Amino acid sequence: MRAQSTGALCTAVTIELENYGTMGLWDHGTALDDAEDPFQPDPAEASAAKGWLAAYRRASAPHLPRELRVFAWKLLHGGLPCGGVRAHSAASREQCACPLPACRAGAGQLRVASLAHVLLECPAAAEAWAWFAQLWQRLQPQGLQPPITARVILMDDDSVWRPPQRLRRLWTRLRLGLLQALWQRRGQGAELEVRAAADAAVHHFRAKLRRQIRMDWRRCEGDVRLASGVPLSWLAGRQPVLSPEEFRARWCAGGVLAGLTPAGNGWRMTMRC
Ligand SMILES: [Zn+2]
Repeated sequence: MRAQSTGALCTAVTIELENYGTMGLWDHGTALDDAEDPFQPDPAEASAAKGWLAAYRRASAPHLPRELRVFAWKLLHGGLPCGGVRAHSAASREQCACPLPACRAGAGQLRVASLAHVLLECPAAAEAWAWFAQLWQRLQPQGLQPPITARVILMDDDSVWRPPQRLRRLWTRLRLGLLQALWQRRGQGAELEVRAAADAAVHHFRAKLRRQIRMDWRRCEGDVRLASGVPLSWLAGRQPVLSPEEFRARWCAGGVLAGLTPAGNGWRMTMRC
């Protein structure tokens, strides 16, 4: 096991566990090397610093639901208690292993549930990301498909791949949504086969996505605070009303997730995901 602290660049500690995957994400990529002259700026390091700053900004964007912002913050800090993080304190290697039967086949073949394994490399996660790639292809039919790699999916490194500007928010929302679904479904697939575990994560992701779309549509239909049963003065904060144009920009790209059609004097929303 090796631990590094970048000090000036990030307070999070990188923990690299042999064969367990790397925690700390951006911290690992920007770790200072004591052997280098600290007074000589390194262009590669400066570029990496810009990269993680941008990734952190996108992860804390106010358009994201709070629970996704919290999840993204923990993910970028390597703060999710996966098997790799628990490996140094767990009583047995078994406690740190992926519970999916496909990852436990054969004697001595336990796969430690590192972040990379749980969120990307586990066969169930890989199937879920294959489904996600097909979904994204419908949203961006003419573009290069996102590589399903740790740098793109976990670190949000846009020097490797980036969506077009009009889809940027949606990419962040959907990417973090599936990551969170995979994380929340982990350990619940102990008796499931790969396909069933992947379906469960995708179902979880879609259910939350549909709920978010419905909530945003309610904001288009009127001021949701009026039905709260409490005085409006108690409900300080951002104006919750959303215009149909804003809703369309958020959710109606390519008509893949939701669509708006004229109905009378207004609009009718159709859920498509
Ligand atoms: Zn696994």
